[in-house]
Amino acid sequence: PAGLKWEFCRKSNGDESYLVCNADEGEPGTFKERVILTEMPEQLFEGMAIAGYALDAKEGIVYLRAEYVYLKKYLEDVLQKMRDENLLGNGILGNNDFNFDIRIQMGAGAYVCGEESALIESMEGKRGEPRNRPPFPVQAGYMGKPTVVNNVETLSTVVKIILHGADWFKAIGTAESAGTKLLSISGDCKQPGVYEVEYGMTIKEMLEMVGATSVQAVQVGGPSGTCIDESQFSKTISFEELPTGGAMVVIGKDRDLLREVVINYMDFFIDESCSSCAPCRSLTVILKNKLIKMLNGFGTKADIDELYNWGLYMKQANRCGLGQTAANPILTTIENFRPLYEALVKSDDEFVSEFDMDKAVQESCNYVGRVPNTH
Ligand code: SF4
Repeated sequence: PAGLKWEFCRKSNGDESYLVCNADEGEPGTFKERVILTEMPEQLFEGMAIAGYALDAKEGIVYLRAEYVYLKKYLEDVLQKMRDENLLGNGILGNNDFNFDIRIQMGAGAYVCGEESALIESMEGKRGEPRNRPPFPVQAGYMGKPTVVNNVETLSTVVKIILHGADWFKAIGTAESAGTKLLSISGDCKQPGVYEVEYGMTIKEMLEMVGATSVQAVQVGGPSGTCIDESQFSKTISFEELPTGGAMVVIGKDRDLLREVVINYMDFFIDESCSSCAPCRSLTVILKNKLIKMLNGFGTKADIDELYNWGLYMKQANRCGLGQTAANPILTTIENFRPLYEALVKSDDEFVSEFDMDKAVQESCNYVGRVPNTH
C-alpha cells in the first residue's frame, strides 16, 4: 500500500506535494512507534527523506501525538544534527536536486486524527474530522496539494529495504505478507513489551514468547480489531489471516470479558467519536446500553441478534474507520464468545419485558403514606 500511495501521489497533478508521517499513535494497546521515535529517530527521518525523494516532495511533516510532546525537543535536536550533516535541507549529500526538510507538528489529542484525512484537517488548523472522499489525500491533501500519509513503522522500514534490497525483504515473512511486524504486546502476560516478529508467527507462538499461560482471548489490533478465542491461536499474524496494526492485548482466563473489556472499549469509541455521523454518535451508546441491560439481567435472546445486526449496520453507515469499526468489540465477541452472551439472557418465554409501575412508585408512596394505585 505504501508503494501504491507513492505512485498515485507522484502521478497526481500538482506543483508541490507533501509527505506526512503519522505519529499520532492512539490505538489503545499500541506503543511501538514511541519506541522508534525514542530509540531510532534517525532511521525514521532517513526513511522520510527517501520517501520525499521518491515523491519529489520538499517538505515532510511529523504529526506527533499530543501525549508525546515531551519528545518534541529531542526530535528537533536530531533533525538539526541531520541538517548539520547534510542529510536534510538543501542539496542533500551533494545532490543539488535533492532538497528536503522535516518539521514537527503537534497533534491535538484526538484518536480520530489518526485517520489520515482528519489528521490533515487538524494540520491545517481545523477541527479534526475525516473528509469525504474522493478526492483522496494523494490527489488533494494538505493545503489542497497531493499528500502521502505513512506511519512511523512504514517509513522506518523503507530504510531497511533500500539497504538490503526488495528481494531480501520479500524473503522474510509469508508469500502475501513480506517482512516483519512490530507488535505492542500488553495485558495478562509475563513479558509485555515491543517485539519485532516475522509475519507468519502464530498467536500461540506469540503467547509463548511473552509468557502468557492462562489465556481466554487475544485482542488483535486493539479495540477496532478482532477478539479471538483459543480455537484461533494457530492462525498467523499476516494480512491473509490476522491483519493487525500491531496492538496485541492478552486477556487472561480470570477476566470478565464483557464487563472489563467490551464495555471499556465501547466507552472509548463513545468518547472518541467526532459525532459527525449519527450512527457513530448514537448507536455506539445504544449498543453499550443494551449490553449493560443484558449484564444487569434484563436481556432477551432477541437482544443478541439486535446487538449483532445493529453492529453490522455501523460498518456501512459511518464515514470513517472509527465508526465502521466501533462495534467490533461487540461483533467479534458475539462471533467468538457467543456462550458468554447466551448465559446473560433468559429464554424469551420466561422473560416478560414490561415496566412494573406499582413497584416503581412504591418507595415514594411509602413516604407519603399512600397505596400505589396506578391502574
Ligand atoms: S464515523 Fe465517527 S469518527 Fe468517523 S467521521 Fe463519522 S462520526 Fe466522525
